[in-house]
Amino acid sequence: MKRRDAGVAATKTRLSKSKFVDGVICPRRLYFQIHSPQLAAAGDEATQAMFDQGAEIGILATRAFPGGVRVEEGYEDIPGALERTSGLVKDGAVPAVFEAAFEYDGVLVFVDVLERCSKGRWRLVEVKSSTSVKDHHRPDVAIQKYVLDGCGVPLAAASLMHVNGEYVYDGVRYDPRRLFSIEDLTPEVRKLARDIPGTLAGQRRMLARKAPPDVAPDSQCLEPFLCPFYAVCNEEKPADWVGHIPHLGRRKLDALERKGIRSIPDLPAGFPLSARQARAVAAVKKRKPVFDKGLKRALAELTYPLYFMDFETCSAALPPFAGMKPYQHLPFQWSVHVRRSPKAALEHHDFLAPPHGDPRKDFLEALLDVLGRGASSKGSIVVYNASFETARLKDLARWVPGYKGVVERITARLWDLLKVMREHVYHPGFQGSFSLKAVLPALVPGMGYDGMAIAEGGQASLEYLNIVSGRYSPSKTGRVVRALREYCKKDTLALDKLLRVLEERAAV
Ligand code: SF4
Repeated sequence: MKRRDAGVAATKTRLSKSKFVDGVICPRRLYFQIHSPQLAAAGDEATQAMFDQGAEIGILATRAFPGGVRVEEGYEDIPGALERTSGLVKDGAVPAVFEAAFEYDGVLVFVDVLERCSKGRWRLVEVKSSTSVKDHHRPDVAIQKYVLDGCGVPLAAASLMHVNGEYVYDGVRYDPRRLFSIEDLTPEVRKLARDIPGTLAGQRRMLARKAPPDVAPDSQCLEPFLCPFYAVCNEEKPADWVGHIPHLGRRKLDALERKGIRSIPDLPAGFPLSARQARAVAAVKKRKPVFDKGLKRALAELTYPLYFMDFETCSAALPPFAGMKPYQHLPFQWSVHVRRSPKAALEHHDFLAPPHGDPRKDFLEALLDVLGRGASSKGSIVVYNASFETARLKDLARWVPGYKGVVERITARLWDLLKVMREHVYHPGFQGSFSLKAVLPALVPGMGYDGMAIAEGGQASLEYLNIVSGRYSPSKTGRVVRALREYCKKDTLALDKLLRVLEERAAV
């Protein structure tokens, strides 16, 4: 449906609701979207997967509105979509319209669900794959209400339908009434909608200018998602940038930058620093790694044999197996290197779930075969970020009956190399990050992830899901399986190499 208000100039830039929301998050981003879209980074596989998931969730959500009819014409046929929507709205036998198209004041919106209520009124429902209402969802719903009001569609409510994070899948079928929660945003959106004419006018004035507005890069560049123009606005920082001091915080960073202090060696004497920050500053000033005295004590906790362990997981809005909740991690792969004594050669073991069936019990069984399952099993299990592996092991014990005791014993043997790194070590090459990908090449020169077919956990997760979905040919599947095994193996080999570096330093 379309209504042209008297004041709309024929040449006015047509805005979609997503562009309007982009402009609310960052006007500069909207300017680039309209005038310089070629500057945007190409969408990667993770972004595509996010869109695909959103589309899947959107379709499933419509099952909560039986009898609803979809407007199949989309952006490819906007006049057709507007006309089809108009027809469905007039047809009293249609209880809900999906992807309903409306245009008013130069703004085009596609409403996920428009549900017919009593007395000729409607409920607007925006569907999101998140598990709660986020800040940027409110202007998203508000602009739709503004357009529908302008088109003369009387609204009983404006709502947001999101995934219910507490939903537990029964393993048979998704129940859309329980999988989703609907939150009524009518009062807050009503208030926001009043400001929309002013916001739109401001966006259009900004778009008419010859240059993009100056906007300082900040959290809006990363949240709610990575801005496609990130590289345009965020210059690469020098290695000794003050922002690389761990956990410095925005307030202190801004205060330093206001004084023109950008480099760690220029920090004023007496600048307040935690022990970890002081270690980082000392390492950057000395241009060499710092290992503190507590390192030796931390390493003394280790008992042989040493197991170096890493899990890979994937997660999705739609839980794949019984007992799982939306976005809960499904462990699908592990790698373990074993050092039985200080001088023994490393052994390697791994597990990668087959593409079909529930892998949880097999994952756990194969792991226990290596780590030992009895009360007398011993040896430290070295991981990088123990909270992650602990949470996955707890999930497995909940899902697979009969493993609670043995999982508790395994969890008690975890030894967190990340914690030790954070508390006792800093290398200037970390550049503020203690991630394995930052720490490894700094402390073990020549050993990194460059050139690997799979080089980080998010990619491993996507590739595994690609295999499971049958998207790959058998030969491509074989290559990806090898790449997954190489990647996870590298992670646990890295743990051994890093520990050796720390052991050598502690022995000095
Ligand atoms: S990178 Fe940041 S400042 Fe630049 S357009 Fe994107 S959100 Fe705005």
